[in-house]
Amino acid sequence: MGDRAVNSAGPLADAPDVPSSLRPGLRALIALAATGVVVASLVLLNDWGSVFGVLSATRSVSAGQPPLPADAAATPLATPEVAPAGEGGFTVLLRQEGTGEPVGWDPCRPLRYVVNDEYAPPSGQYLVQSAVAELQRLTGQVFVPEGTTQEEPSDRRAAVQKDRYGDRWAPVLIAWSEPGAASGLAGPVAGYAGPQAVDGAQPDTQRYVTGQVVLDGPQLGELAAGSAGLARARGVLLHELAHLMGLDHVEDRAELMYPSTTLLGVDFAEGDRRGLAAVSGRPCRTDW
Ligand SMILES: [Zn+2]
Repeated sequence: MGDRAVNSAGPLADAPDVPSSLRPGLRALIALAATGVVVASLVLLNDWGSVFGVLSATRSVSAGQPPLPADAAATPLATPEVAPAGEGGFTVLLRQEGTGEPVGWDPCRPLRYVVNDEYAPPSGQYLVQSAVAELQRLTGQVFVPEGTTQEEPSDRRAAVQKDRYGDRWAPVLIAWSEPGAASGLAGPVAGYAGPQAVDGAQPDTQRYVTGQVVLDGPQLGELAAGSAGLARARGVLLHELAHLMGLDHVEDRAELMYPSTTLLGVDFAEGDRRGLAAVSGRPCRTDW
């Protein structure tokens, strides 16, 4: 090992068709370290210390609540995919304190996002659009792109940024960055992500309102350049976006939410999809 995931991208790109079970030495790959986050009273949701970091979710924000947006509909904007039969295979980042229900996004509002493409690889736009489309299909959460931004990722990102985005929840930031600009990408980390939650007016009505997805552009660009690499780079984006939707890591390496990339990890497995269904279709919120 040594310099980041590109190490693993090299040999892997040379043997894209070899099942991971036959090439254990080649599987370590892109590790993505969990990063603690820090905003006000936030909970660190993941402290694995390795691989696919989770930015963590905040429990509340101190910036006050923005007004209910005009684009909040009375009914969900789309329908989640039906989860595969069976149980388990996933872990959620955050549950309501009383009911234990998974916390999710409000399906009656679009999930708006901006992209900082400063360090985006040539395949960056494809990777984001393709992964977002898949998450939208599976979760029924409508994603709306709001173009590009100059905003840099931050562990202390404010959930409301009036000067930059107006008096509303800031859109999700998808940032193509690199280790020198985002310390959370140091080492073999290829990306990290997480939602920010706020409390509702009533108990057990936490919901996600914004979040960040931080991607190592140079590293993923190198991975994507290999013959089977584009699918694997897309797999990293799917993994990070699933964190954004509220999923945590699992120990089963057959699932995409396993904390490091594998040769098989190019798409969601059954447990991942059950998890996405569990955090999807949560109640619509009308308090703010
Ligand atoms: Zn992860």
